[in-house]
Amino acid sequence: MALWDNINSLETLQRLCERCRDCSLAMTRQTVVFGEGNPSAKIFLLGEAPGAQEDACGRPFAGRAGEVLDLLLAGAGLTRQDVFITGSVKCRPPKNRNPYRGELAACRPWLEKQLALIKPEIVVCLGLVAVQNILDPKAKLAEVRGRWFEGPGYWIYPTYHPAAVLRSTVKAELPAADLKSVAGALSKMQPGLRPYPRPASSG
Ligand code: SF4
Repeated sequence: MALWDNINSLETLQRLCERCRDCSLAMTRQTVVFGEGNPSAKIFLLGEAPGAQEDACGRPFAGRAGEVLDLLLAGAGLTRQDVFITGSVKCRPPKNRNPYRGELAACRPWLEKQLALIKPEIVVCLGLVAVQNILDPKAKLAEVRGRWFEGPGYWIYPTYHPAAVLRSTVKAELPAADLKSVAGALSKMQPGLRPYPRPASSG
């Protein structure tokens, strides 16, 4: 679509996204959580969907899972200013349920345009919803976590959602090690060269 092609800044995209009513989540949301961070980030963190706190304040990972994420990033020598963080859908599903396939599909163009504008080297999928949204709708997190997959212009790297650490379903050491691997792989990549050198631990 010509109008879509003419969007050449994240600010413009965000303004349009904040008016989006392309799926039923628009009826129950308080705020569109577009995402935030470095507009030239090499690492793009893809989560699931806004929760209650994110919906209220309009920022991704604003609650306790966000505190865990901040700690995981710090352990890898990163801050939120180094990365871009967003969700697979930008509006909160009622009662924090997982987004439905149709909602993910409706929201996908916003994600694709974010990726096209930011041009990250690595997309880190935080949890199964993100993995199934961008890598493979039938993927199992246990089988893909910590492996590298080649995406269209970027690497895809699945790991656990920080909320899994809060629920104690995974130990913090696992996503912490994953984010360190991501930071280490990024330091060895050569920006602008295609194909990228394959990270050492490729699956
Ligand atoms: S979730 Fe995405 S597609 Fe649905 S209304 Fe919000 S921004 Fe639009």
